[in-house]
Amino acid sequence: MQVAIIGAGIGGLSAGIALKQLGHQVKIYEKFSAFKPVGAGLTIWRNALLGLRELGIPEAALQNHNVKSLASLRNWDGAFLSDPRKGTLPMPIDELVRVFHRAELQQTLIETFGIEDIVLGAGFETASQTDDKVSVTLSTGETFDCDLLIGADGINSKVRLQLHPDSTPVYSGYTAWRAVIPYDQSHCVPGETWGAQQRFGMFPVGHDQMYWYATQVAAAGACAANGEKAHLQQIFKNWHAPIADLLAQTPEEAILRNDVYDIDPLRKWGSGRITLLGDAAHAMTPNLGQGACQAIESAVVLRNCLRADSDLNGALRTYEAKRRKRTTPMIRQCRQIGNVGQISNKAGVFLRNTLMKAIPPKLQQAQVLRPLEVDF
Ligand SMILES: Cc1cc2nc3c(=O)[nH]c(=O)nc-3n(C[C@H](O)[C@H](O)[C@H](O)COP(=O)(O)OP(=O)(O)OC[C@H]3O[C@@H](n4cnc5c(N)ncnc54)[C@H](O)[C@@H]3O)c2cc1C
Repeated sequence: MQVAIIGAGIGGLSAGIALKQLGHQVKIYEKFSAFKPVGAGLTIWRNALLGLRELGIPEAALQNHNVKSLASLRNWDGAFLSDPRKGTLPMPIDELVRVFHRAELQQTLIETFGIEDIVLGAGFETASQTDDKVSVTLSTGETFDCDLLIGADGINSKVRLQLHPDSTPVYSGYTAWRAVIPYDQSHCVPGETWGAQQRFGMFPVGHDQMYWYATQVAAAGACAANGEKAHLQQIFKNWHAPIADLLAQTPEEAILRNDVYDIDPLRKWGSGRITLLGDAAHAMTPNLGQGACQAIESAVVLRNCLRADSDLNGALRTYEAKRRKRTTPMIRQCRQIGNVGQISNKAGVFLRNTLMKAIPPKLQQAQVLRPLEVDF
């Protein structure tokens, strides 16, 4: 079968590897004309780690023992609101979570998939289909036919918007800054810190590098008049150590700023010989650190459905039903965590913190581990 995948992100590359495992001829079409080391840290949870192993990613490429404990949750002054580090874990920590630089993981996937089957500078424009084939037109005007088209073109997916024109991304109401910098990790407790309207998180990513992120309630499209670094230093100046130092050591040009969006869960994903995967299908806010993890899971489930059912239409609809069931509650849960984390009024913050502290450590740990249970 000739498979065309739109988008060479974590989702498209994972799907490409998965479908090559079935012996299909797969080409990935990527709109950018070169791969740039974009992005910052990505938490790769156990469910995705198992997915990457299913895809045959060499264990050496997945080695990463930088996370020493589950993430804690703290108040802006450093007091612990929840500390899942307490209590026994069901398995070693590096079997539960690892943190990679996105560019590093993407490069591993490119090497496993094969750069020769990636067409760069090939933006998807439109597609039409009959019972027998899909005809694709690229932004260059070039056209081609394939048996299966997978839209893995991210949250602003043109493939999705062609199938569901109303499925435009939804703004969460907050923006996120991220950076990866060289930093001494010995005094950092990995985890997230909550204030009113703002959050700050930090995780080691290996190679003596630290990944940090920050969020703040903001209007969509806004940017800081005096530079993002100065703005962050101002809002986080009284927060617990080493937040001010991390910001001081971060060059302005290392800071990425992205407004946070998701999509409303779709009732239907694809049709006929076309389906969706990754953020194109199930973009969620980053509050569970599961967006890329779910893209990897989707790739494995798609492979398994195609292997189990020789009827293409049937296999694709089974894949979509399975993945909708898994990702729809996650999109909603991510929204809820975001709403709680970004609470702005003092009374709300007090109530939230009191409730967080009252949750027994065992239950805190169970909440973190529940999304990691996966059924491919
Ligand atoms: C602040 C933040 C923090 C995050 N942290 C985590 C985390 O810790 N863990 C985690 O698992 N997830 C995290 N995520 C989510 C994660 O980044 C995404 O879910 C994941 O990257 C989605 O991968 P994708 O391949 O589906 O989409 P993308 O990475 O968006 O890739 C889509 C690809 O398609 C290409 N493309 C787009 N349009 C076209 C077109 N018309 N034609 C051809 N190509 C096209 C793009 O150039 C891109 O290469 C985070 C997200 C944000 C915003």
